[in-house]
Amino acid sequence: MDLGIKGRKALVCAASKGLGRASAFALAAEGCEVTITARGAEALERTAEEIRAATGATVKTVAGDITTEEGRAAALAACPAPDILVNNAGGPPPGDFRDWERADWIKALDANMLTPIFLIRAVVDGMIERRFGRIVNITSASVKAPIPALGMSNGARAGLTGFVGGLARQIAKHNVTINGLLPGPFLTDRLRGNAAFAAQKSGRAAEDHLADQARANPAGRLGDPDEFGRACAFLCSAQAGFIVGQNLVMDGGAFNSSMG
Ligand code: NAP
Repeated sequence: MDLGIKGRKALVCAASKGLGRASAFALAAEGCEVTITARGAEALERTAEEIRAATGATVKTVAGDITTEEGRAAALAACPAPDILVNNAGGPPPGDFRDWERADWIKALDANMLTPIFLIRAVVDGMIERRFGRIVNITSASVKAPIPALGMSNGARAGLTGFVGGLARQIAKHNVTINGLLPGPFLTDRLRGNAAFAAQKSGRAAEDHLADQARANPAGRLGDPDEFGRACAFLCSAQAGFIVGQNLVMDGGAFNSSMG
């Protein structure tokens, strides 16, 4: 299926690894010109080279922290009028809410709520003028099923989701959509890191923790980032213009509900 986005400009944030990388890859494979960001320049350049080699797409890189004003300004300078925006950043750390001070919360809100909102604000009017825009916020299955240890993530991402739910309905008539894509367990560096952390505590191998997670999932496995990237590309497709303000959980069925 041709997604109808050949030649579109896509800004994919936090995309040297994991789900952002997979999303950039899938968009490039559809013929988009992609701009990718991450803090670490080395992995970013490596990913850009891999995408170019595999797809022949034009790939720009912007090294910087997307959760800062300077990081966002640099990303927007490289891609000032994106047709597609994929919002992504690292998630806040786990912990006990009694230990979190105002500064911790502000950091989480900056990363997982305000950064996507400010990027949307910067690009949405151009999308409206051009009568095409696709915005995907990579959030988390925890938006629907909160993870107790990830209180700051639950809170900040829910805040973004609530705001976007209203905005998406104000701009849909201009063929500009905003949707959330909510990952469950995907086998990325982040998940491997969590497993390594659990292994230190338990004395069991990290691989055993990953295997437990896979077994516990209704699909009997962990998600492949490539699957995520392709779903993201579909939400960015010409054909997805009637999918508005939705929150698509991709978790192998772990979120247990008859009605999604
Ligand atoms: P990952 O494999 O660790 O990759 C994270 C990517 O984001 C890297 O390219 C990283 O590069 C970049 N990044 C992180 N913070 C950044 C910042 N402040 N500015 C710019 N780039 C930044 O993580 P992932 O698994 O793809 O997760 C992506 C998002 O999905 C996270 O918010 C995570 O919490 C959420 N999520 C993931 C899962 C899962 O199973 N994987 C499940 C639920 C939710 P640098 O470090 O070089 O900046």
